[in-house]
Amino acid sequence: MIYPLSYFWPVLIGSTKYFRYSISGTMRFSTNFKPYVLLLVVGIFLLLGYVYFSFFSERLNRDIPVDEDVKSSSLSKPMVRSRVWNMVSPEKLLYKQPSVLVGRTDVVTVTPWLASIIWEGTFDPVLVDNIYKPMNLTIATTVFAVGKYVSFLRDFLETAEMHFMVGFNVRYYVFTDRPQDVPSVNLTQGRHLSVIQVPGSNRWQEISARRMEIIQTTIESQIRREADYIFCLDVDSKFHARWGAESLGRLVAVIHPGYYAQTRAKFPYERRPASTAYIPMDEGDYYYGGAMIGGFVEDVYTLTTVCRNQFAVDAGNSIEAAWQEESHLNRYLLYNKPSKVLSPEYLWQDFKAKTKEVKVIRFSGVIKNYAEVRPNV
Ligand code: UDP
Ligand code: MN
Repeated sequence: MIYPLSYFWPVLIGSTKYFRYSISGTMRFSTNFKPYVLLLVVGIFLLLGYVYFSFFSERLNRDIPVDEDVKSSSLSKPMVRSRVWNMVSPEKLLYKQPSVLVGRTDVVTVTPWLASIIWEGTFDPVLVDNIYKPMNLTIATTVFAVGKYVSFLRDFLETAEMHFMVGFNVRYYVFTDRPQDVPSVNLTQGRHLSVIQVPGSNRWQEISARRMEIIQTTIESQIRREADYIFCLDVDSKFHARWGAESLGRLVAVIHPGYYAQTRAKFPYERRPASTAYIPMDEGDYYYGGAMIGGFVEDVYTLTTVCRNQFAVDAGNSIEAAWQEESHLNRYLLYNKPSKVLSPEYLWQDFKAKTKEVKVIRFSGVIKNYAEVRPNV
């Protein structure tokens, strides 16, 4: 039997007025029994659907565990710039044939989770540039120059213009309490600098640690719309050689130059279980430097959010991790593995003699007089 559609409406919308009208106007049934059968059938279907979906969504949740910290601190996808990039190499580009037998043997170039460790001689800069430049990427670079550290800005910016992401769109974000002291540096085409005022502090530990929070909020308020990748760097440093697209990845960390030859028990991780940055003696991959974090804007957003929150939890318990944000960073990266690891070529220290495995120093911390530049010692 084919029921006219108008027959079902009163049942579905529950309008008794319309129902009466339908019965009298269009239907020939002697009783109103059948609409209730239909209602019952619809009800059973809804119930079955509910049971089915709740069962499967529970299974899905069980199959894909999501770290609570990460879940609650992710930028939702539509908020960041869209990105579909393939590794397209131009036709007829001539470069040295890669070998599967000959390469660097004095250093390890891959982590146990198969992320590359970037050393001189492991990549072809011409090929890398030819792949990445057509993507027209914008790289955000945050740098803090609070208090007397503003004096490091000129060298930092001038050397960055010579060596850092040359040929890419770069947006520097300079955070300072002394905007009038930011030097004017000639920027090459496609590069832009904005100054963002932040409060000063009389504790260097606080300045250094608050970077996580300020980077997080600035990603939220503007960087997520303005850049694809982000690097967060120490200002008391200079570039000396190429730092290019070989460093780009989802989550990028750098191996601290002071500890790459040490066993993990010697790493200066936070060792007190009371701190949220705690790492037990028998865990740890590398000791990462806090002077550089990088990656996709959304991945660095998550990292800064988690580190900032952990820092706040510690502060609530009156505990400050051994190396402030560097300790929280190391804890984060132990359980959220970086997708690319930069060798100490990308973070050296001027006071440290070059070692034989470091063929080129790309970025290095200058020697500073702590008593002279820091608000407290
Ligand atoms: N910083 C700053 N003003 C300060 C102390 C620190 O702007 O008074 C910022 C600056 O960007 C610096 C970073 O925090 O590069 C980390 O501090 P610092 O370089 O003193 O730490 P270190 O590299 O010596 O461990
Ligand atoms: Mn530094």
